[in-house]
Amino acid sequence: MTLPTNIQQDNFSEIRASLKKTFASGKTKAIPWRQQQLLQLARLAQENAEALAESIHRDMGKPHLEIYLAEIGPIVQRSIICAKNVAKWAEDDDKSAEVDDWMKSWQPKIRKEPKGVALIISPWNYPLILSLQPLYGAIAAGCCAVIKTSEIAPHYSSLLAQLLPKYLDTDAYRVVEGAVPEITRLLELQWDHIFYTGNAHIARIISAAAARHLTPLTLELGGKSPVILDPEADIDLAAKRILYGKSQNAGQLCVCPDYVLCPKSVLEAFKQSLVEHAKAFWPEGSLKSASFGRIISDLHYSRLSSMLQDTSAQVIYGGSKDFEGTVDPAKRKRGLELTILELDKEHWDDDTLMKGELFGPFLPILPVDDVDEAIRFVNSKSHALVLYAFTRNEETKNKILQSTYSGNAVFNDTFQQLACGELPFGGVGESGHGRQILKYSFDIFTYERSVVDFPNEGEKSNDIRYAPYTDEKFKV
Ligand code: NAD
Repeated sequence: MTLPTNIQQDNFSEIRASLKKTFASGKTKAIPWRQQQLLQLARLAQENAEALAESIHRDMGKPHLEIYLAEIGPIVQRSIICAKNVAKWAEDDDKSAEVDDWMKSWQPKIRKEPKGVALIISPWNYPLILSLQPLYGAIAAGCCAVIKTSEIAPHYSSLLAQLLPKYLDTDAYRVVEGAVPEITRLLELQWDHIFYTGNAHIARIISAAAARHLTPLTLELGGKSPVILDPEADIDLAAKRILYGKSQNAGQLCVCPDYVLCPKSVLEAFKQSLVEHAKAFWPEGSLKSASFGRIISDLHYSRLSSMLQDTSAQVIYGGSKDFEGTVDPAKRKRGLELTILELDKEHWDDDTLMKGELFGPFLPILPVDDVDEAIRFVNSKSHALVLYAFTRNEETKNKILQSTYSGNAVFNDTFQQLACGELPFGGVGESGHGRQILKYSFDIFTYERSVVDFPNEGEKSNDIRYAPYTDEKFKV
């Protein structure tokens, strides 16, 4: 990855220093300024929608419709919602502190203060929303920010680096492109908040770097999000919705349903429905379909291909590959078919498909005796980003919620929960910590500053606290 000529590694500390200076000037704190920048961000996404979609399509073969629905549309809409609400969100809060009457004259209140200059580190898989969603949070909060885009989505990254200065104030917001050497240098600097989206392995490097400066950190990670199927669910509809979730961006999605725990009593019906819906979604097969994405890089393609080769699971549908190499790796087509597999219980713990997050278009089905066995299996693994369950039974829903942990829990659909921007999104344990989207994104970059203002009057009642600590004072 070559750096754009305008950004040299040596400049990183200068960039940070200039953003610190802007922040110190107070410019980014003014509400009208924040609103104007938020609307400019919406404009950036809207006026360049086609070019942005094409850049992402070139990076990973993602269908344009998926990019509009999951990335560009939400960024335009949410930036505007933030512009409308930021004045309310940023208001001083003098109501939450319910103090005793004798303290009321102190006028206790909570100010919503911007943290300062943030570093936003984003991944390749939904490169637009995952870089600009934290950015609208930072703008709304009144922070400055450096956005470090992913080197694995170079077309998007370079387009954003060109567009951002045309729309946003570069005194406050900058894009830095680059890979490990650049991010390593950036992480040596002190930031007021680091927002990282990506895998849990790198999250440990980011956490260690943040710890050196005691920098607050948001970690938006992934992992294996399981699906529990209740035999009483609408099995055919469940199959259709699970397949939809699994196929978005060819399975390269943090909230992707990773595997399905399916009761044996409905196993055949479920498999049949999956295959029928797959044939309806991609009549010519997913590899030939323009409605199905491609694999991001040679590395991920070979990782996923090895899985297909090494798994002991039985392929029920799919399993084909299609690799068109060119000299330019960015132009290669790496196709992996949506593949449905059934995995015997004896291999649940050692099969390659179950070792880590799949992050590809494979759907393993694990036949279980019942929902209780499914819950026990889920609880034997790290806390998931999302737990999906398909059931119409309220008791089963409660049992699942009460006996499991996950960042989010979704009944009867997959992926679509992210459209609900008013709910906080984030992980727990290995799937991360911190909550984002709309007001929650504002909150990430804001800290609550407690303020009290003691009146000069009533000094007599303070006598007890001043030395000398006489015996009379102990008697009061
Ligand atoms: P990636 O490879 O693009 O890496 C993410 C960022 O980390 C990039 O900006 C990259 O430059 C940086 N990075 C890479 N190596 C580094 C190093 N050694 N030191 C410091 N920084 C480094 O993306 P990825 O990690 O492959 O992204 C996929 C993962 O992200 C999956 O696990 C997925 O579940 C997760 N994810 C989570 C969310 C969420 O919102 N929770 C969203 C999308 C993806």
